Amino acid sequence: MSMYLFHNLLLLDPRQDELRDGMQVLVEGGTVREVSDRPITSAAAERVDMGGRTLMPGLIDAHIHLVLTEVNIRLLSDVPLTLLAAKGSVAAREMLMRGFTTLRDTGGADWGLKAAIDQGLFVGPRVFIAGQPISQTGGHGDFRSRTQSTIFCACCSGLTWASRVADGVPEVVKAVRDELRKGADHIKIMVSGGVASQLDPLESLQFRVDEIEAAVDEATRWGTYVAAHAYSPKAVERAVRAGVRTIEHGNLIDAPVAGLMAERGAYLVPTLVTYDSMKRRGAEHGLSAASLAKNDVVLQAGLRSLDIARAAGVKIGLGSDLLGQLRNDHMNEFTIRREAMSAQEVIRSATLVNAEIVRHEGRLGEITPGGFADMLAVDGDPYRDLSVFDADGSRIAAIMLNGRWVKNRL
Ligand SMILES: [Zn+2]
Repeated sequence: MSMYLFHNLLLLDPRQDELRDGMQVLVEGGTVREVSDRPITSAAAERVDMGGRTLMPGLIDAHIHLVLTEVNIRLLSDVPLTLLAAKGSVAAREMLMRGFTTLRDTGGADWGLKAAIDQGLFVGPRVFIAGQPISQTGGHGDFRSRTQSTIFCACCSGLTWASRVADGVPEVVKAVRDELRKGADHIKIMVSGGVASQLDPLESLQFRVDEIEAAVDEATRWGTYVAAHAYSPKAVERAVRAGVRTIEHGNLIDAPVAGLMAERGAYLVPTLVTYDSMKRRGAEHGLSAASLAKNDVVLQAGLRSLDIARAAGVKIGLGSDLLGQLRNDHMNEFTIRREAMSAQEVIRSATLVNAEIVRHEGRLGEITPGGFADMLAVDGDPYRDLSVFDADGSRIAAIMLNGRWVKNRL
C-alpha cells in the first residue's frame, strides 16, 4: 500500500478562511490518515515536498452531464451509445484535470460509464449517477418533436440516455425503481420547464404533486434522495414540500421559497455558467431560437438567486451543467459567483457543501483523517485568486485521486 507524507505546504481547509501554514498530511492507500500541525513521523511513507504550494481537497461539481455531448440535445439522436461513451470518457478526464475529483451526474451517465472509471478503463473522477432523468410527457426531458408520437427505444441512440418519460404515479414509481435497479445513486426529475427542451413553457409546473411525492417515497425507501430541475418559485416550492432534497438551477426563486428551502434543509445547486455560455456560444453550436429566448430569462435572474438564497441561509452547492462543446467554460462558474460570494464561499460550495449533497461529508470535500485522499496541489492561494484553476487545470501542479497520482509535476 502506498504511503505519502506531504510537507512544506499551505493547507486549504475549507472550514477556515485562511490557509494554514506548517501542516503535514499523511496518506495511506486511498485514505488520509493524519493531518497535523506538528511533524509526522512515518518510516514507511514517501516524503512529498510541496515546495510551499497549497494542498487542498479535490473539487466537486454537483451538476454535470458526462454524456450530454451536444449543446442541442436533440442531435444526440444521431449518436450511437458507443460513441457517446467514448465522448463521455473524454469529458470525465478533462473535468478531472480541471481539479474536479468528484462529479454528480444529474442525468445521462449510466453504471457502465461509472464502472469503466472504477475499473481504470477510463480516466475520470468519482462519479455519482442519476441514470436517466425522469420527465412527464411534454416536459423538460421529452425531446420528441411535435410530429413524433413514439418514444425512442432505450437502446438505439444517445438521446435515450438524456431522459425517460413517465406519467401518473404507477409509471413514476416504476421509472424510479428501474433507475435504482440500474444503479442510480440519486433520482433526477424535471418539475419545471427548461432551456434545452423546445416545447415546454419555462414557467410550466411539471409532474403533479402526487407524482413528485411518489418519486421521493421510492427514493427514500431505497436510502437515497430526489434532485429536481426547477426554475420558478412555485416549481421549487412544490418540489421542496414534496420532499425533494436538492433543487437544480433555481434561478427564479424568491425570498419566501428560499426561506422554505432553508427551513426544510433543501440544497440549491445553481449552474450559472451554463446560461452565460449558451448566451455567448449556444447559437454557433445549434441551440435554437426558442432555447435562447428561455435562456435569456434565467440568465438575468442567476446572480440574484444567489443573493436571495444566501440571505435566507440556504445551503448552496456548486454545479456547471455545461453541455457538449461549451464544457471548456467550466471554471467561469467560479468567476461568475465571485460577483455575489467570497472566494471562500465558492470553494466551500465546491467542497464541503457538495460533499454533503453527495452524502459523503467527512469523506470528501476536505482533507481530514478517515477521508478519501482526493487532493490538489496548486500554485498560489485560491482564496486570493480563483484563477489558479483556469486554463483547463494547467496551473494545478498535482492531482491525487483515492491516494493515486493522476498528475504529478511536484
Ligand atoms: Zn442539468
